[in-house]
Amino acid sequence: MTQLFKAIAIMIIVLAPTSWAAAQSDAPAQAEKTWSLVLHGGAGTISRDRITQEKDAEIRAKLTEALDAGSAVLKSGGSATDAIVATIMVLEDDPNFNAGKGAVFTWEGTNSLDSSIMDGATRNAGAAAGTSTTKNPILLARAVMENSRHVLLSGEGADQFSREQGLEQVDNSYFATPSRREALERFKLRQNAISALGGDQLAQDQLGRDWRFGTVGAVAVDNEGNIAAGTSTGGLTGKQWGRIGDSPIIGAGTYADNRSCGVSATGAGEYFIRVGVAHEICTRLRIAYETRPDFSETTTQDIADSVIAEMGDLGGSGGIIYATPWGQIGYSFDTPGMYRGMASSKGDKSVAIYGDEE
Ligand code: ASP
Repeated sequence: MTQLFKAIAIMIIVLAPTSWAAAQSDAPAQAEKTWSLVLHGGAGTISRDRITQEKDAEIRAKLTEALDAGSAVLKSGGSATDAIVATIMVLEDDPNFNAGKGAVFTWEGTNSLDSSIMDGATRNAGAAAGTSTTKNPILLARAVMENSRHVLLSGEGADQFSREQGLEQVDNSYFATPSRREALERFKLRQNAISALGGDQLAQDQLGRDWRFGTVGAVAVDNEGNIAAGTSTGGLTGKQWGRIGDSPIIGAGTYADNRSCGVSATGAGEYFIRVGVAHEICTRLRIAYETRPDFSETTTQDIADSVIAEMGDLGGSGGIIYATPWGQIGYSFDTPGMYRGMASSKGDKSVAIYGDEE
């Protein structure tokens, strides 16, 4: 009798976490083996009159290359986490984007990188803020997630962890590009003029409606139905005092939860932090999915749009990408443009820049 009881107890202990996990991933479940991937390369004052045809083509080619890198991982049955890391690394290595090489400059003339990643299956997450020597900051965020007991590391400590993890290190000057240096010089001229008039130290319009684009991010759903999201950025031109934006803040710039969605954001970070944009979208979506009988794909887009509108009402601006476990991928942004792209196992693949493109 005792033996039988023990055997039943052992079975309960062994099976319980599995069935609990299965129940969790049932809501909502993926019907068949499919995958999807969505990426952004920043939102902002992007319009046809500001971008040459050559630059337009260059950006589209790079967005396509990044999509292809992530899609290859997903097609071969790889994980969502591997896919978004592969996608983001392509954009970090390209000087056109404000992440990794080509990051914007701080007030002091250095480059200071922020990154984050989240796994929607476990809701494990990792992030690094204000780092200066890791060539691909998304790898550092991943190392924090997988190899530390912490979620967010910063500054010299994060750099030290990165070295201990054996990640590729570069001199801080690796990230610098002439066009970003010119942007800093322009910013300083404008900032000094504002200060002379008694204005705020950091140009208000940059905090709100006219900051520069280039942050990168990706969200993927793999053929196990697991979601991962990640974001990488140099932050804002001329940032001071160790300023950290939303990108390395789990819940603001990045969030992933298998029950609802994955989100990566770009825009005026202070406002994304105040609204908790990425988490807010996922939470509203989870509750709507679980409780609304009329739930449809339109509901997802409406929720994303309404959170972006709420952030805009506070004075901010920007955009997000999202992917859901039921195979929906999309964007929401209130800027003239957003570098973006999506691909899925259904065979669709597209990249876009301007607001009026599909
Ligand atoms: N969100 C980033 C930050 O505030 C900037 C951006 O997305 O362009 O640091």
